[in-house]
Amino acid sequence: MAVWRENDAAWFEERMLHCALCGRMIAKRYLAASSDHHDAIFCSEDCLSLYDDYWLAERGADYRPTTDIGERYAAEMVK
Ligand SMILES: [Zn+2]
Repeated sequence: MAVWRENDAAWFEERMLHCALCGRMIAKRYLAASSDHHDAIFCSEDCLSLYDDYWLAERGADYRPTTDIGERYAAEMVK
């Protein structure tokens, strides 16, 4: 289930929210989603559906890129 909510932080607070899929900083409105697999916030319904349909299916909720992801990306990119 997902509901739209607003970040109620005052303007002087440094409470930053980030989308669980794309990482975009969320200034005001965010989509709070909870299920059996995750509790997370998203910047849009597109990010939520991509998270459920691709990220969880392919990577799992606990996936984090390896620490050498930058070097691996550079090595595997077609030049
Ligand atoms: Zn997003």
